[in-house]
Amino acid sequence: MYDFLITGAGPAGLAAAITAAELGRSVIVIEKGKVAGPEPRGESMPQHELFDKLIHPGFLQEISGFTSTSRRFHSSADKKNTLIKIKEPYYFFNWRDLIDPLYEKAAAAGVEFIFGAEVTAVKTAASAGDDDGTATGVYYTKNGKTKELEARAILGCGGRSCPIAAHYGIDTKAAACPTVKYRGRMNTPLPTWFTDLPGEPDLQFFAVLPNSFESVAGFPPAFAYIFPLGDSCIEAGLMLRLSQFEKINNISMPTDRQVMSAWDEAKTSLSGFADFFIDTSTEYEKLTSIQNRRFIENNIMPGGGAVLIGDAVGMVDANGSAGLYYAMSQAVGWSEMLSEAMNTNSEIWSRENCEDYLSRQSKWKFYRYIKRSFKLISFFERIMFRTFGTDKKLNFIWPLISAILKSAS
Ligand SMILES: Cc1cc2nc3c(=O)[nH]c(=O)nc-3n(C[C@H](O)[C@H](O)[C@H](O)COP(=O)(O)OP(=O)(O)OC[C@H]3O[C@@H](n4cnc5c(N)ncnc54)[C@H](O)[C@@H]3O)c2cc1C
Repeated sequence: MYDFLITGAGPAGLAAAITAAELGRSVIVIEKGKVAGPEPRGESMPQHELFDKLIHPGFLQEISGFTSTSRRFHSSADKKNTLIKIKEPYYFFNWRDLIDPLYEKAAAAGVEFIFGAEVTAVKTAASAGDDDGTATGVYYTKNGKTKELEARAILGCGGRSCPIAAHYGIDTKAAACPTVKYRGRMNTPLPTWFTDLPGEPDLQFFAVLPNSFESVAGFPPAFAYIFPLGDSCIEAGLMLRLSQFEKINNISMPTDRQVMSAWDEAKTSLSGFADFFIDTSTEYEKLTSIQNRRFIENNIMPGGGAVLIGDAVGMVDANGSAGLYYAMSQAVGWSEMLSEAMNTNSEIWSRENCEDYLSRQSKWKFYRYIKRSFKLISFFERIMFRTFGTDKKLNFIWPLISAILKSAS
């Protein structure tokens, strides 16, 4: 019987594990990959005290090879563009440079890890068929064998396909926007239009209206983005924007193959964007998803015992797909609250306690920000992709779009 059993050694799971272990709790993490955070995801964020506390002061600056303080948004067909200055510089880094120190810190604090083990279901105190009993553990498979482990608190930090959420029938895919993640090396100089741009021409976002691709009929709205990271290196992607999905006519959810066809078309013919791929060697290219379509507020599972954290509930800044800080902050907050309850009270999942946790969570500053961010992005995408969702209309009202973007940044 552990105090904490954490599903998933991503940024949220690792942050929760470090915090709980440093508060004197016994912690075990089950990760399906062979290492912590097996698949690269977000590789940029602004400085927050949280990282100084979790690892050591100055950590983010140490691992970062590139910073950015501006973004440029391009209208459809790249007819207009707007430079947005952001308040805090964004630090870019390599995923492993973030994950490995988090893992090392957790291991040094006494956290136990089981790698190559996939959590498949939740064990509850309820009798068979009754799903509302308190979660007391998980079932997982390793080397073809099913095993189980018990804990006083189960943290569902399994990201976009969290098995804890799935066990309770929560569709985390409803929060997901398919996204292609790409890294490459340019063998030609940066496009001249890009280097000629006034201001600091760092990150570039290209609006892709509904139905923009010839190779895939009815493709939903999206943003294609390019981050030229120096040393001829680029990070890029195509991120579907689905907050208005049900309300825009004549679009449908593309299959994985269709997303990749649209991506190939973007690389060869999306105005402005394609200039970065003329002679670029691919280093990483994979279809994944960013959780920025919905936000699941009730994250304590029925009956208590388990709570969903990070991407599992859509803790991503829907405005800019920044999820690392929010996922880790939420994880730290829950580890602290539950550790405190374990010190004082054996009934940590009483109705009264659960109400108190949710009430405290709802007051966290970043939590309130995330909720607002989802509302704002939905409004913005309604204007951009629905109300003015044609090339002509969008370019006509671009000054309004620019004003909204500036006020939101
Ligand atoms: C392309 C892309 C770009 C992004 N860019 C940024 C950015 O620039 N800045 C930013 O702040 N955020 C960014 N994000 C978002 C950020 O990466 C996520 O919000 C963050 O990784 C969430 O952390 P998490 O721990 O909740 O989930 P994850 O990082 O998804 O970690 C989940 C972990 O759970 C494990 N797992 C899953 N299922 C099981 C199972 N059944 N059993 C055991 N283990 C399991 C996984 O292997 C994984 O290690 C980006 C995301 C993507 C996809």
